[in-house]
Amino acid sequence: MHSSTQGNFDDPSKQAHGVPIATAPTVDLRGMSIPALGMGTWQLQGRDCQSAVETALRLGYRHIDTAQAYENEGDVGIALRHCDLPRDAYFVTTKVWYERASADQVKRSTHESIKHLGLDHVDLLLFHWPNDDVDMEETLGAMTALMEEKVVHHIGVSNFTPRLLNEARRIAPISCVQVEYHPFLGQKPLRTICEEHDIALTAYSPLARGKVLEDETLKSIGEAHGKSAGQVALRWLMDQQNVVAIPKASSEKHLRANLGIFDFTLTPDEMSRIDALECGKRLIDPGFAPDWQN
Ligand code: NAP
Repeated sequence: MHSSTQGNFDDPSKQAHGVPIATAPTVDLRGMSIPALGMGTWQLQGRDCQSAVETALRLGYRHIDTAQAYENEGDVGIALRHCDLPRDAYFVTTKVWYERASADQVKRSTHESIKHLGLDHVDLLLFHWPNDDVDMEETLGAMTALMEEKVVHHIGVSNFTPRLLNEARRIAPISCVQVEYHPFLGQKPLRTICEEHDIALTAYSPLARGKVLEDETLKSIGEAHGKSAGQVALRWLMDQQNVVAIPKASSEKHLRANLGIFDFTLTPDEMSRIDALECGKRLIDPGFAPDWQN
């Protein structure tokens, strides 16, 4: 459940240099407390990545999403060190690439990720895409062993279908599934499993890679609240049980806008109008993706 849906904008102790540190509410389950709004970093690298992550942390983001495949764990690590926050003040997710599914590869590559990040542990380790060629027991078993070693605090999966998620959660203590989720692509069956089994559902591409910004329904709902279509889409996600969102933004303007969603609420009628935008539009569908219908 979300600890609160409003964040802590009003707490004066959370102000720094006149800038409100608007930390997001958290989704709390299975001993994991994951900030419900995080920052995505796919396609950010080098100095652009460092500076965007530093800006995000300064604005109050406390959850950064990276992956081995993004080749930016080192840049994220530099930004984390520059911000000098206590380690328990922020939450870092990384992902093991699907071609590194053997036990040995999972262990070795995760230790490398942690080293690139300059940390002693990651808060959440996800397996990036399902891999039919390696037994799920082997991959998830290695991830569980990393939890026992305490170099990983929680584990989960990404791009798993409902059938695969059910299989995974019977094998290992899955705390999170990360999938594409925005108003144009529903995730009802996965959401039901997540609610029943205390699993967080992290919405990736929550702005539909920018496509939500032009939607007339979202724009008109936004006008009623003095908000943009993107802010409405993110608020809609925040109002769903166990849901976390990780919009990617490069500029301070966009980072700030995406955090500015905790000072308004959507009515039940507005929530339903957004639900009705679902049209099965999937934007991330590489050749190695699973059969989404199965
Ligand atoms: P997204 O967050 O839906 O959209 C990002 C796009 O929206 C960027 O072009 C960004 O532009 C723009 N944007 C962000 N905030 C904006 C604002 N306030 N106003 C106008 N435009 C705005 O797409 P995404 O990057 O695909 O997904 C987010 C994150 O999810 C990724 O970065 C990654 O961490 C994760 N992800 C995971 C997987 C997976 O397989 N597990 C797959 C895809 C993504 P600027 O950059 O110019 O700000």
